[in-house]
Amino acid sequence: MNDCLFCKIIKGEIPSTKIYENEFVYAFADIAPQAPFHAVIVPKEHIKSADEITTDNSHYIAKIFEAVAEISKQENLENGYRVVNNCGEDGGQTVGHIHFHLLARRNLAWPPG
Ligand code: 5GP
Ligand code: ZN
Repeated sequence: MNDCLFCKIIKGEIPSTKIYENEFVYAFADIAPQAPFHAVIVPKEHIKSADEITTDNSHYIAKIFEAVAEISKQENLENGYRVVNNCGEDGGQTVGHIHFHLLARRNLAWPPG
């Protein structure tokens, strides 16, 4: 847990550009944005991936989507957006702290590659 990049970002030990924060979640600008608007939203509890969601921690996922709606209003994303969770190696997850990408301000292809 001490080695977790996103735990360090949450604690402010690694700088980030804050987009939104509350008691449960932190959202910051992705360092390598894949769209003109690209936020990474993380729970303030260390959960490794979607594979580790349980009845004990699933409330954090609800809080993530409450934050999505708040960020949408805050950033005027009324034209739409995509929320993405990458899980595990084949899913393209590169940081072992569950996170949701919020991508907006361009037409996003479907299906994704
Ligand atoms: P994943 O590939 O695991 O789904 O997403 C990890 C995301 O974290 C990537 O989009 C990557 O650009 C972003 N990221 C990795 N390291 C940092 C960092 O130090 N700061 C910020 N702001 N984003 C990071
Ligand atoms: Zn962590």
